[in-house]
Amino acid sequence: MKIITVVGARPQFIKAAAVSRALAGRQDCCEVMIHTGQHFDANMSDVFFQELQIPRPAYHLGVGGGTHGQNTGRMLEAIEAVLLEQRPDAVLVYGDTDSTLAGALAASKLHVPVVHVEAGLRSFNMRMPEEINRRLTDHVSSLLLTPNEQGILNLAAEGINGPHVMNVGDVMYDAALHFGAAAEQSSSILEQLQLAPSAYWLATIHRQENTDDPVRLQRIFEGLGRAPVAVVLPLHPRTRKRMTEMAISLPANVNIVEPLGYIDMVMLEKHAALIVTDSGGVQKEAYFHRVPCLTLRDETEWLELLDMGWNRLAPPMGEDFLKAFDVAYGKGAEDRQPYGTGQASQAVIEAILTLRRGQ
Ligand code: UDP
Repeated sequence: MKIITVVGARPQFIKAAAVSRALAGRQDCCEVMIHTGQHFDANMSDVFFQELQIPRPAYHLGVGGGTHGQNTGRMLEAIEAVLLEQRPDAVLVYGDTDSTLAGALAASKLHVPVVHVEAGLRSFNMRMPEEINRRLTDHVSSLLLTPNEQGILNLAAEGINGPHVMNVGDVMYDAALHFGAAAEQSSSILEQLQLAPSAYWLATIHRQENTDDPVRLQRIFEGLGRAPVAVVLPLHPRTRKRMTEMAISLPANVNIVEPLGYIDMVMLEKHAALIVTDSGGVQKEAYFHRVPCLTLRDETEWLELLDMGWNRLAPPMGEDFLKAFDVAYGKGAEDRQPYGTGQASQAVIEAILTLRRGQ
């Protein structure tokens, strides 16, 4: 079975790393990867292919740096050309980026089955580009593989149900387990940054709603400035650009570093006292490594994390925003394993094979 995988952005490289590892050992499937070029910096792209041993993409479309419409349109055209040349049995897309939507649209218009890994997530906030991408992708997918039960419920509420909708668990959990163990052996990031375990906070900020509003972004930094310890902030290129344009002031305890490879990132996550983030993936990784998390958003797709007490929302424009940074966060009380057992990648492959059998 020939599967074309479309990736383009950092979180997709990590998800693909888990599934491609599992696919590489199979005789009955072959994977051809397309990299759209949505993320193109060496530390936002190449580093993941090298250290996570993701197969080299057969196609690099070089589409990136434009507006959402420009990127999606150019990707759509270029992906369609590859699909016409390659004639795959299925197209595999991950998550909620412009690359996800472009891959799903190109394939569905050519009647190639679309497999959506991380289907069913909803923020119910249509101002997020990610929400638009994930909703549209789900509605043209042939196989919808959710990371949790909430995904099944969200899809059912939109009239999408049946045997083609499955909770396979979260492929990011597979990656966290596998590379988390590797990080303990090979990462020296704590020494490099002179950090003692549990004596720092780790932060990430990249979501458009936070980076594009100067008042909101400055408030986030004011919050980080209240941390009782050093805050390490691997800075996304978009945030860096906006900080310069908006002349955002940086508190003395916030240590900006370049975006990190996944192995160093996992190491910092595992040993942080608290993680502060607006990233979807990082919220979950905090839980995978049992580190409490404060989420810099008005809502989250990952409701289980709030229910279990591992994650709290801190809406940046909310009245109590700054107070959220003064609370001493303990470990969460509950541990329900809502994202499977770390075998999601195998389940993805088994599900894809049902397409060939016409089940
Ligand atoms: N990540 C990384 N290096 C960094 C920041 C994040 O490897 O400097 C990883 C992080 O561990 C997670 C993924 O990138 O696996 C999350 O990507 P991002 O926050 O860009 O996107 P989101 O999850 O919000 O879609």
